[in-house]
Amino acid sequence: QTQELSQARIDYHVALQALQEHGTRMVCTGKMHTDRICRFDYLCYGSEAEEFVFFHSNSSVMLPNLGSRRFQPALLDLSSVEDHNTQYFNFLELPAAALKFMPKPVFVPDVTLILNRFNPDNLMHVFHDDLLPAFYTMKQYSDLDDEARLVFMEGWGEGPHFDLYRLLSSKQPLLKEQLKNFGKLMCFTKSYVGLSKMTTWYQYGFVQPQGPKANILVSGNEIRQFARALMEKMNITTVEEAEKDGGSAEDEKEKEMKDDYIVVFSRSTTRLILNEAELIMALAQEFQMRVVTVSLEEQTFPSIVQVISGASMLVSMHGAQLITSLFLPRGAAVVELYPFAVNPEQYTPYKTLASLPGMDLHYISWRNTKEENTVTHPDRPWEQGGIAHLEKDEQERILASKEVPRHLCCRNPEWLFRIYQDTLVDIPSVLEVLREGMKTKPSFKKSRPASTVHPGRVREAQCQTSVQTTNEAKLTVSWQIPWNLKYLKVREVKYEVWIQEQGENTYMPYILPQQNYTFSENIKPFTTYLVWVRCIFNKNLLGPFADVLMCRT
Ligand code: UDP
Repeated sequence: QTQELSQARIDYHVALQALQEHGTRMVCTGKMHTDRICRFDYLCYGSEAEEFVFFHSNSSVMLPNLGSRRFQPALLDLSSVEDHNTQYFNFLELPAAALKFMPKPVFVPDVTLILNRFNPDNLMHVFHDDLLPAFYTMKQYSDLDDEARLVFMEGWGEGPHFDLYRLLSSKQPLLKEQLKNFGKLMCFTKSYVGLSKMTTWYQYGFVQPQGPKANILVSGNEIRQFARALMEKMNITTVEEAEKDGGSAEDEKEKEMKDDYIVVFSRSTTRLILNEAELIMALAQEFQMRVVTVSLEEQTFPSIVQVISGASMLVSMHGAQLITSLFLPRGAAVVELYPFAVNPEQYTPYKTLASLPGMDLHYISWRNTKEENTVTHPDRPWEQGGIAHLEKDEQERILASKEVPRHLCCRNPEWLFRIYQDTLVDIPSVLEVLREGMKTKPSFKKSRPASTVHPGRVREAQCQTSVQTTNEAKLTVSWQIPWNLKYLKVREVKYEVWIQEQGENTYMPYILPQQNYTFSENIKPFTTYLVWVRCIFNKNLLGPFADVLMCRT
């Protein structure tokens, strides 16, 4: 005990001296506040002012050094939601000399990741905005390891899914509220501030109606690696792993796990399926499979993931619970049901997820088109879709409308009214959509990593020309295979050649199976042609173009 304390004392003096002498040091990535993550030595937090503090000394560093542009609008986004004005991060500045007059700082020895959770009450937001971005931010900076400390600055309580945040590291995450307990001045020895947005695929409609992000940078591979890591932490085993563990095919438990089944994810308070039992029976009958229901109200999250990770199909009303489709095995189907007057094409966070390349899920949506099958709740509070507070005219307009027009987030009363309807699901029409959808079920090949390898550049590309007559000429282009091809098994290798007459702004594209070709059509004598060549694997894996060839006939 004394040993530990004195050790801590020594560290404390070293740390205090380092802070006083060197001040705070900050080095960031990113050109703009929206793509920035900063690493700090000795970033402090004053719990009375509820502000982070940067201490200036002769050796402090602040890169980027933005001057007052640091406030236009902020240094960085503290959540993964882009440029949201409630999620900005900044700090106050003080000279290190001011420390003499301040409360003694308490030092946090752990490498810390400081971030805002965006909406920890909603499961979709928990995964999309917080868990995935934090997981991959931690992968980006290797000292954010299993021992890292997470600090959530959005100011909310733990929320219903705090256990999921606990899976990110072995240390208990801290909430803003708890920072007070560490004293008036707290200094993080080493910290990272901000979250990577690389894994997010959806924008919620703050500036334009909601939809997939414009430039999605994540693939199913990264989502599935994250899912696997989380499942490991939850002690969940998948069928594949059970097989690897050498259990025989006769093994009862394994048989049980291998048996195909459908999961209906049920909501028990809002946006209900009113005839859930009937739907379950119809699904069982149609697909000759067991149907299992799960709900967040009745099961632990790990037990839900265990069930979903072995399912062939997940059926649910539109809603946050559908984020659990990221735990489905490859090849499974996601069936999303939409209430009356809600256009499935306009609310696609789960469709976008299921359709990420390499996610290998089959997505099908169904919408209730029969007004008599919807149950509305006009008298509920506005946040659950009530419209009683609106002008009579407006209420009537909403009630008469057959589709919610495009709108921005988050308090559009017509949207809330429609999305919180309960639905009597029309069984024949759901089965029809499923039969139709399953017909086109894509066959996802067992994902061999080789099937996503892109060709390298073709090598030694060259051209030879000859003039036949005053208006006929030939252009022969040849090249060698890309270097990586000789180590790969590729089903189909083709080459694309673009030929452009110098000075023209159009070009002729050709797809060729061989490594040389003599062009004579449209080739003129005494003309310069620009020629590009690239390799294509399996029809759609494009390689880079080799350096342009200048070919004079
Ligand atoms: N939720 C639930 N059962 C319900 C209603 C909601 O489990 O009957 C969960 C839902 O999955 C989400 C949170 O409660 O995690 C908030 O639900 P809300 O309807 O506000 O959001 P949405 O599902 O539309 O994203």
